[in-house]
Amino acid sequence: MSHVLDINNPEIFVAAEPESRSIWQSIRRGLSMRCPSCGKGKLFRKFLKVANSCPHCGEELFHHQADDAPPYFTILIVGHVVVPIMLAVELEYMPPIWVHVAIWPTLALGLSLFLLPRIKGAVVGLQWAARMHGFGGSAE
Ligand SMILES: [Zn+2]
Repeated sequence: MSHVLDINNPEIFVAAEPESRSIWQSIRRGLSMRCPSCGKGKLFRKFLKVANSCPHCGEELFHHQADDAPPYFTILIVGHVVVPIMLAVELEYMPPIWVHVAIWPTLALGLSLFLLPRIKGAVVGLQWAARMHGFGGSAE
């Protein structure tokens, strides 16, 4: 008995359709430095080194190409937080210069080191959800 392939039958195409990926959920998981697919495995194997695959679910993560988007967003956010506070403190209290030298570089550096891996995780999560750069399963 032979099976006739009917190309007008929509059921044969259903299996090939990929599952949908929530962009906001993936970004949130990336912000918490977790795998965008399962939300459990660690996204990074070092400070900013993305793991080749998720240690929990095995999802391939090496496809990401975050490039310089994470530092760009980090600088944007840190600059918009630190500079207005610095100006407000100067206008309000006029502290001696050593106070500025002690506070603002430390705050900018600490905030940058805190934000950079989280923003990179969010960018990787966005790329994974949007199936960019090989995350969709096909080489580009
Ligand atoms: Zn995972």
